[in-house]
Amino acid sequence: MLTRSQVKSFISRYPAFEDETLALHYAPRMPKAMVKETQEVIAIARKFNDEVARPLSLELDRKTHEDPNYFAPEMVKKCNEWGFYTMWVPKLFGGKGYNMPSLSYFCEELASVCLGFANIIAVHYLGISGLMMCGNTRIVKKVMNDVRKGEETGDPCIIALAITEPTAGTDVEEVDLEDKGRITCHAKKVNGGYIINGSKIFISNGHTSKWTVLYAYTDLKKASETTVAMMVKEGMKGFTLGTHENKMGQRICPASVLNFEDCFVPDELVMLDPEKTRKFTNQKVRDIKMRHIDYIVSITRPAVGAFGTGAARGAFEAALKFASETELDGRPMINHEWVQCRLAEMYANVRLGRLAYVEANTANQHRGVYNLLQMKPMYYYLKHMPQAYFDKVLSPLLDKPIGTWLLSKWYLDWQKPKDQHVCTGLGSVAKFSCTDIGVRNCQMALELMGQAGMRNENRVEKILRDAKLLQIYEGTNQLNRLNVFKSLIAPAFPKAKVFED
Ligand SMILES: Cc1cc2nc3c(=O)[nH]c(=O)nc-3n(C[C@H](O)[C@H](O)[C@H](O)COP(=O)(O)OP(=O)(O)OC[C@H]3O[C@@H](n4cnc5c(N)ncnc54)[C@H](O)[C@@H]3O)c2cc1C
Repeated sequence: MLTRSQVKSFISRYPAFEDETLALHYAPRMPKAMVKETQEVIAIARKFNDEVARPLSLELDRKTHEDPNYFAPEMVKKCNEWGFYTMWVPKLFGGKGYNMPSLSYFCEELASVCLGFANIIAVHYLGISGLMMCGNTRIVKKVMNDVRKGEETGDPCIIALAITEPTAGTDVEEVDLEDKGRITCHAKKVNGGYIINGSKIFISNGHTSKWTVLYAYTDLKKASETTVAMMVKEGMKGFTLGTHENKMGQRICPASVLNFEDCFVPDELVMLDPEKTRKFTNQKVRDIKMRHIDYIVSITRPAVGAFGTGAARGAFEAALKFASETELDGRPMINHEWVQCRLAEMYANVRLGRLAYVEANTANQHRGVYNLLQMKPMYYYLKHMPQAYFDKVLSPLLDKPIGTWLLSKWYLDWQKPKDQHVCTGLGSVAKFSCTDIGVRNCQMALELMGQAGMRNENRVEKILRDAKLLQIYEGTNQLNRLNVFKSLIAPAFPKAKVFED
């Protein structure tokens, strides 16, 4: 009917078939063992919900309301005991090496009961993403060794990521906005390192992390071209903790203020700066900065989508339970047609949210930063080789310049811009769609349950507070909508300009 070249020409038109049907392309390539592994992850999350999150979350939420200065480091310890901080770290870096997409399913499970617990764990992986995406294998190994030791000794070592500043939130997540924003965290190059001055705010786990990925800028007016990414450790001279926010929700995970006053960060903890970037690629420093952010958010925004989906599910499950236990006009509420339609809509929202974050993860598996780990031969090789092999044979290479060269080339130079756009765009689709869905389901549950939804044991009012915060987490939903336009729509319409206003 059509020649091969005709087919090619039609399917590459906007919207391009290849970009719109990722699951279709990836499904045959997916290692089968990933399904079993994901089932195990979900089972662990449900056990944790039964034994820890469900019994504790309301009590902890109440405590933090009564005393906003209270936070719960013992919960960070609890998650450490369960081994959650190394579960999704590759075996090469001493972790358990569970597949990355399973982290999102895990987040959905936890978030359906308590978004605070989900946040504590997932933010540690936000920190790990920032660390990994800089490509410095020596520093990754050093920090990951501490995380592993923390698990062995029972003294948790978790990682935060600090990019948001008192006067720049959305702005520091897009290079097009960065140079227009009011950025204040300054890095001054000195002999042997950088001196940092400035503050960061809203840093999840800031008070409970041993290591923090920190971003500062040598020229505050040209932040996009002068970013320095480094690791700072708790207790370093000049690095102090300020207050933590009196948050509306997700209260067991502190959102902290970090202050830097003449804080010296030695070169050995500097992961990325313009000079290092130029060593690995001829591309513009500014484009590489955007790639770095895009790859962090392409991994972490689907997880935030899973948070939103979990919130939607928590609200749905509360409403379903309520409707099945409550009488209305002499018969069970669940038998009223209008209630059934409402519940069906809430259920559909959960399924749609899940589709959105799974599709974003599929983009990462198929064309994103961890696609290599998800290819069948590599996946099974990593899965079945004993940990001693990684520790003794491969780990020493991580300290050598060749390790950093390879990982940096992989992240900074060898990825295609088209793949970068698909991954970050779908991460943003998941982020704003799922978090909006989370809020919508809470509102529907409250309408269906009336005053009862506000009662603590029904949790819906708590889930709504928790879910609303997600709409700003990892960039506002407005920013994420614009990112979708920029990444998935504008490339096909060269006249379209984003972030002009
Ligand atoms: C629960 C939680 C946890 C967080 N954890 C961390 C963390 O661990 N590490 C970290 O670094 N940060 C963290 N943040 C900060 C978060 O990433 C920022 O809040 C977010 O980037 C938004 O920044 P902002 O709050 O300064 O809002 P602003 O950037 O001030 O935005 C305010 C409003 O203006 C709109 N707006 C801003 N710029 C534009 C534009 N150019 N065009 C159109 N509209 C625009 C936004 O849509 C929004 O509605 C966290 C936030 C939350 C809520």
